[in-house]
Amino acid sequence: MTQRAKKKLAIYWAAGCGGCEISVVNLHETLLEVAQLADLVFCPCLVDTKEDELAEMPDDSIDVALINGAIRNDHNEEMAHLLRRKAKLVVAYGSCANSGCVPGLSNLGTVDDHLRTVYDSQPTTDSTKGTIPQPRVEVPEGVLRLPLLYDQVRRLKDVVEIDYAIPGCPPEPHQSGPAILTLLHGENLPPRGATVGAGPASVCEECPRTRKGKLITSLKRTWEIDPDPDLCLLDQGLVCMGIATRGGCGGLCPKANMPCIGCYGSPEGVRDQGAAMAAALGSAVDVTPSRGAGDDHAGDHARQLFDAIPDWAGTFYKFTLPSSMLDNAARRYSERDEPQLQEPPPAGDPAPTGTPGPAYGAPWTVPARG
Ligand code: SF4
Ligand code: SF4
Repeated sequence: MTQRAKKKLAIYWAAGCGGCEISVVNLHETLLEVAQLADLVFCPCLVDTKEDELAEMPDDSIDVALINGAIRNDHNEEMAHLLRRKAKLVVAYGSCANSGCVPGLSNLGTVDDHLRTVYDSQPTTDSTKGTIPQPRVEVPEGVLRLPLLYDQVRRLKDVVEIDYAIPGCPPEPHQSGPAILTLLHGENLPPRGATVGAGPASVCEECPRTRKGKLITSLKRTWEIDPDPDLCLLDQGLVCMGIATRGGCGGLCPKANMPCIGCYGSPEGVRDQGAAMAAALGSAVDVTPSRGAGDDHAGDHARQLFDAIPDWAGTFYKFTLPSSMLDNAARRYSERDEPQLQEPPPAGDPAPTGTPGPAYGAPWTVPARG
């Protein structure tokens, strides 16, 4: 009996938290099926394969590459291009790869801000030496390089073509497991570009709670109330993102008496998750107190209601800022008004021989705040 050749699987971690790797481990018994079907040929977190060994593999020799994490720096992008060349199917795995997720919230500031915050202005940081890491440092042994941070976090599909998307922060194993097996088998595949391992509709469709469509008179934070376990959380004044979030998790959070925070991103056909949620909330709040009282009064009333939530960008766009219309607007604004702190490195990095190479145009010499 001839044995079928094993498939080849690669998993790569770009700018993310490692939760997507954990979610692969979390496949439990399905992991045995994956291991029977495929060899893990590249996964820096689990397998000691070097990048130059990956580069030496023939193009299209990997069957499936699961890439998680957002594109935060030039190394992330370089690896995305390399895996795109080596793999027949590239899958954007998890929310960071698909829509930017939490790393994407950094698009609300500049790289300059972030470096200064992390290395200069924390009470626990000794900033007296001005120790801001630089993308290129010469030492007696040669030139040390750090990946160059981009001024904006991007999604995987912004830098390479993707074949499939598996959303979630992280993807839930009951959905992602069968999806990974289907992709590895490579038969009866869904149309290229499809989202797999999730449903098309919203979390509300999977939520067992009763929605009465009660108008909200005040917005609450989770610690302020002990919610009724059977009633819709939105009806109870909690900002539950279920209505603006793709289903697939089975309504995990509302089932545990917590509002959905939106980790599966937008449902099919919804362009902007935060805008969809804002529209849903707009029609759910009770405007009776301001009816007939004039625009100013209505504005005050709305402000009072919405001021209860301290971080609107972080609430509405925690998982999708780089996919949003807001991000595009912010990018246009920053391109217009902000000088770019960084410039790309010169082509061809100098070999680490100790010979000084050309300096970058604008390294990360972040000035201390006055
Ligand atoms: S808004 Fe939240 S609690 Fe209400 S039905 Fe949707 S998912 Fe369930
Ligand atoms: S309920 Fe919402 S936040 Fe919770 S796992 Fe599902 S999609 Fe993610």
